[in-house]
Amino acid sequence: MRDTSTTEPSAAQSLSLNVAKIRNDFPIFQNLSVDGPFTYLDSAATSQTPRQVVGAVNEYYSEYNANVHRAIYAVGEKATKAYESAREKISRFIGADETRSVVFTRGTTEAINLVAYAWGRHNLKKGDEILITEMEHHSNLVPWQLAARDTGAILKIIPFRADGTLEDAETYFNENTKIVSMIHQSNVFGTVNPVDKIIPLAKSVGAVTFIDAAQSIPHFPVDVSLLECDFLAFSGHKMLGPTGVGVLYGKPELLEKMEPFLAGGEMIQTVTLEKSTWNDVPWKFEAGTPNIAQAIGLGCAIDYLSEIGMDTIHAHETAVTKYALNKLNDIEELTIYGNPPERGGVVTFNVQDIHPHDLAQLLDRDNVAIRAGHHCAQPVMEKLDVTATARASFYLYNDLEDVDRLVAAVKKSMDFLR
Ligand SMILES: *Cc1c(COP(=O)(O)O)cnc(C)c1O
Repeated sequence: MRDTSTTEPSAAQSLSLNVAKIRNDFPIFQNLSVDGPFTYLDSAATSQTPRQVVGAVNEYYSEYNANVHRAIYAVGEKATKAYESAREKISRFIGADETRSVVFTRGTTEAINLVAYAWGRHNLKKGDEILITEMEHHSNLVPWQLAARDTGAILKIIPFRADGTLEDAETYFNENTKIVSMIHQSNVFGTVNPVDKIIPLAKSVGAVTFIDAAQSIPHFPVDVSLLECDFLAFSGHKMLGPTGVGVLYGKPELLEKMEPFLAGGEMIQTVTLEKSTWNDVPWKFEAGTPNIAQAIGLGCAIDYLSEIGMDTIHAHETAVTKYALNKLNDIEELTIYGNPPERGGVVTFNVQDIHPHDLAQLLDRDNVAIRAGHHCAQPVMEKLDVTATARASFYLYNDLEDVDRLVAAVKKSMDFLR
């Protein structure tokens, strides 16, 4: 059932990655016993895992499983070294000046909560303003709602326009703005927001900056030293790494001044029954036994991505997305939400009166996996005046044939439901 006839050779030739070779690295594309190719178009929710990462996790458990930062024996030292070496890889990958800027968390959600508590609860007061955008993922909205509630600060919102781009941010900043926390690449529209323009605006009023990079770090080069942001967060599982590990990047001088978030083992220097002192940054923020295997796996995922090159990955996704937009736009009954000029590999749409859940279920019969729902962005759905949408998202293992199969399956579903 491999229909390649609709793939335009010129577009296929413009792809910068050898997808067949890459797919060979991903066991799921070989192992999954489905009838025909598995068309995975939900990497914005979680990415697939290459055998190198599975191998790194497996190797830790099979060869040097021990807790970190405490064992004196050789295996424990090896685990500590591998865990800290993953931190160094991450630090280089995002262009951090110092490795101690990299705090391991469970993911983007935990990283944002960490800052909303450890920075927010101690630095915000009544009348201060927290600035976010109208296109935030719930994990960059709800923690700030709680911080505002607990401190009396005000949550201010930069709205988005119909094309999925943000309104001019300048007028939303004033001397009360204490922090701006915003999504780098939208998980609904794919919009790449102009953080390089907004960060200087924040600095001009002395506000702290936080970038939710969950959808950007996996897909194009991001350099925290060039951006000069104060905080940035991302998740391992959206960039070929394991679940359960993510990163908070923070400027060392800010991390130093912050109170701990979670308390317990690992994060202390000295403990008496009356009081305790804290470990150095970043370990001050890593209470308890961390996700050791997952952190090592994330380090391996970064090696994998770096070897291919983030610029190459970005160029590939741009070509696939352009092709998808053209093909989907040809379907008259289909509405694509947003049309941002700067965008990543995410396309959100609905087909006339077909509920996106029904569509996703029908597509699944053809082994095409897309997301259907509110994408953890209910305020965005409300503004679009829909309860849910379908979403296809692309990564380095997707090619134009995946798009063709998506389009064919959408058309088949439309015929089926008529
Ligand atoms: C996925 C995502 C999150 C949350 O990440 P978790 O890994 O679930 O913590 C936050 N923001 C954006 C933009 C995301 O896409």
